[in-house]
Parts: sequence; structure tokens; C-alpha cells
Amino acid sequence: MRTHYDVLIIGAGMSGLRAAIAAAEEGAEVLILEKMNAPGGNTLISDGALAVPGTDIQQAQGVEDSPALLAADMLQAGVTNDEALVRIVSEGARTAFEWARSLGIEFQDRADYFGGHSRPRSHTPREGTTGRPYIRLMKQRAKQLGVKLLTKTRVAHLLLDGSRVEGVHTLITNAHGETAKEFRARAVVLASGGYGADAEYLGTAVDPRLAELDTTNSPSATSEVLQAAAAAGAKLIDIEHVQLGAWASPDEKGFGVGPSFGDYIAFPYGIIVDDSGKRFVNELGDRRVVADALIAHGRAAFTIADGVATARMGQNLQKALKKKVIQRFETIEALADAYGIDADILRETIQTYNAALVGDIQDPFSKPFPQDAEPLATPPFHAMRLSPKIHHTMGGVAIDTSTRVLRHEGTFENLFAAGEICGGVHGQSRLGSCALTECLVMGERAGRRAASGKR
Ligand SMILES: Cc1cc2nc3c(=O)[nH]c(=O)nc-3n(C[C@H](O)[C@H](O)[C@H](O)COP(=O)(O)OP(=O)(O)OC[C@H]3O[C@@H](n4cnc5c(N)ncnc54)[C@H](O)[C@@H]3O)c2cc1C
Repeated sequence: MRTHYDVLIIGAGMSGLRAAIAAAEEGAEVLILEKMNAPGGNTLISDGALAVPGTDIQQAQGVEDSPALLAADMLQAGVTNDEALVRIVSEGARTAFEWARSLGIEFQDRADYFGGHSRPRSHTPREGTTGRPYIRLMKQRAKQLGVKLLTKTRVAHLLLDGSRVEGVHTLITNAHGETAKEFRARAVVLASGGYGADAEYLGTAVDPRLAELDTTNSPSATSEVLQAAAAAGAKLIDIEHVQLGAWASPDEKGFGVGPSFGDYIAFPYGIIVDDSGKRFVNELGDRRVVADALIAHGRAAFTIADGVATARMGQNLQKALKKKVIQRFETIEALADAYGIDADILRETIQTYNAALVGDIQDPFSKPFPQDAEPLATPPFHAMRLSPKIHHTMGGVAIDTSTRVLRHEGTFENLFAAGEICGGVHGQSRLGSCALTECLVMGERAGRRAASGKR
């Protein structure tokens, strides 16, 4: 087995595949090391939504947007983001989007409004709310360029010579168990994603309460590469910040089938209420705002949308209805009865909400109603119980604008990183659909920089 390459990439999700393609286009010989049986990571199970400002799709919807507005929204939600990295992502988003299209990914004719964004700018593949087309087409492209991929190969340590990384130590799973193997390269790119499924690490390094929470993440999302980088002297930032997905349901395990109802339909076009029937949060607040409110409020919570909203979005809710994650009702009374909500108060809440939506009164929670939102009035009504789950690990290795990993002092010469293993781009709270954009923009940058030191 060949063990020397120009560039080694750890992880075959969105950022790793994008980095591999870019490095190979620069003429580098590239090996991707992937611990699972197949590429994909969290990217594969994602909704596939990309935050992109200034697209033709937005223009057709009459939406004016710009990289500066996207950057302002990301900074407002994230608070501690690295502003230079935010600008790189927001300014690179359009090019990344057109690149995804050039690979063959088609997008729906509508840009969606996600919490914390000031514009509808989330673009979802026509194939559905899924990351599958990205992985399928990027894998194909990487293969055409001669990129090698080794699956079932887990990176355990980085091999160091001062501030240079010489290679990696791996454990390859085979019929006999695990075999240790070292790979060497002129540059290494960390693209191993976040650690939202690593209950042990989250519970010990961040907050013991996190070990008890369910996660939306793939089982691949664990922290060993982050820990290996830290052991090699990488600087970690924002590890204490973990994003909870507010649109998750306690009526199913993992990410499941309910969240896209919350994210795409009920949060923008409907309401969140507690079991008394009252609203308590701006449904289009960023994820931290909504998840914190759910936890602080401490009561059972539900999200509700009417027939106009669900029909407009055209989502197939059959699976969620069959699993009873979402339930459908002809009247508000039946809905209230099924979930033990006070029906009189719920009716009043909806009246007040509708009055705010049409501009008769100020919304008590300052919700920025989408332009095409209509009063919540038309049956059937759909509802889902809410319970936040671990969704995105905000912290990670610190990088500079070349994607070079920072040490406590200075940088590594030839260690790069992109995607969810990095901290900094999203600060303390990531806006929905900004992660995949980041992976495409920063993955490309990491791949090109890593290749530039090739033989
Ligand atoms: C359910 C869900 C829905 C989401 N939807 C969206 C969305 O619509 N839009 C959006 O912008 N963001 C979304 N996100 C977030 C986004 O999907 C992730 O942040 C992004 O996919 C991370 O990409 P990545 O390449 O950094 O990591 P990943 O895609 O997770 O890939 C990392 C890869 O590294 C491998 N790896 C890990 N450790 C090792 C090791 N030791 N050795 C070798 N390989 C290793 C993993 O197996 C994995 O294949 C969603 C997240 C989840 C969980």
C-alpha cells in the first residue's frame, strides 16, 4: 500500500471532499482517510441547504441580498466570530453555489427563510432536504481527478516535527480487527467534522448535562481528531459553545423527520407555544435564541403551522405523520385537546399573532415576518412537540485566513483545516445553512493552500 502523498485529507464529508478536489486540481496527489465504511459524515444526513446571497433564485423572488448582509447576520448571531473568516465565507458563497451547480446539483426555485437570517437565502437541492447529491457528485469528481480514498481508516495521532506535520498514524479496520499504519505527506488537511455525537467528550470537556441530551448528528461526529490536534499543540477556541437544534422532536430519535417541518414551515410561517397556549419567543430568532428560550421556559413546547403554510412549502410530511412526530388536525380545538394545550388561550394567541402579522399591532416578540407569510387560519393545522437536541459543535481548532491551523504561538507550517472541526467562522451560534457554505468555501481554500507546498 502506498504511504506517501502530497496531501492527506482527514475525513470525507463536504469539507474534505471539496479540499481534495481543489488540491487535485492544483496537481497534487491526494489521499483521503475516512474512518467510516463510506464517505458522507454529517453532510450526508444534512438538509443540504446552502446560505447564498444574491442568487438568481432570490432575484426571481424579489429578494435583495448581499454578502455584507449575510456577514452582518452571521456576526450578530455568533458574537465571537472571526470577522475575517466570516467575510471569506460570505463573499465566497456565490462562487461556491455556482460550483455546486456546475457539478450537477440542481436547486429548488425558492430561497427559504431560516431563523436569524434577515433575508430568505437558504437554497435546498431539488432532490429534497438532503446532503446526498453533494457527496455523490463530489465523490465522482474526486475520483475523476485521481484522488484516492481509504475508508475504515481512523486517524488516531498526528506525526510531528516541531511546527511541521509529517503525517498521521491510523488504525485500519479489517477482518482481523485493526492494523496500525502511518501515512506521510507534505501537507495535511483536518476535515473530520464536529463532535456532536461524542457524548463522552461533550460531557467531560464541555458540560455534563450535554451527555444526557439526544443528538441530531451522525455517529461519525466524534472528537478524536480534535483531541489529536490539541495534543499536537493546536489552539482550540469556543469549545464551551454547543448549538442545540430547537426544531427537534422528542417523539423520535436523532435528527429524524420532524426538523424540516420546524425549520422550513412552522418557525417562519407559524408559531411556537407552550402548554398554556402562549407564545414565548420570536420563532425566527437564531437557533441559540430559540433553544435557550425553550430550555429557560421549562414547559412543554409545540410548533404549529396552518394549511396554507404547509401547502406552499410542498414538503412531503407523510413519514412524520406516520411516525406521529407531526400530527394533523381540522380544528385548533382538536389540536389543543390532543396536546393538552389550553384551547381558549391558544385561540387568543393566534388572533394576536395574526393581528401582528397584518400590521394591526406590534408583534410582542418582534418576529420579522416573511414577506409571503399569511395569517394562521386555514385548516388542516399541523403541530409538533419540541425538545432541543445537540446539533452543531461551535468550537474547534483555530485557523488563519489561509486555513492554516494556529498553535498557541504561531501556526503550523503545513497543517490546514476546514469545516466543522474549526471554530471561529460561526462564533457561538451558527445560522442555519451557513455550515455547508462554509465547508465549500473553506474546503476549497484549504485544498489549494495545502497543494501549494507540493513537490
Ligand atoms: C442532521 C443535520 C442536518 C444539517 N443540515 C444542514 C443544512 O441543511 N445546511 C447546513 O449548512 N448545515 C447543515 N448541518 C450542518 C452540516 O451538515 C455540518 O456542519 C457539515 O456537514 C460538516 O461538514 P464537514 O465536512 O466538516 O464534516 P462531516 O460532513 O461530518 O465529515 C467529516 C468526516 O470525517 C470523518 N472522520 C471523523 N473522524 C475521523 C477520523 N478519526 N479518521 C478519519 N475520518 C474521520 C467522518 O467519518 C466524516 O465522514 C446539518 C447537520 C446535521 C447533523
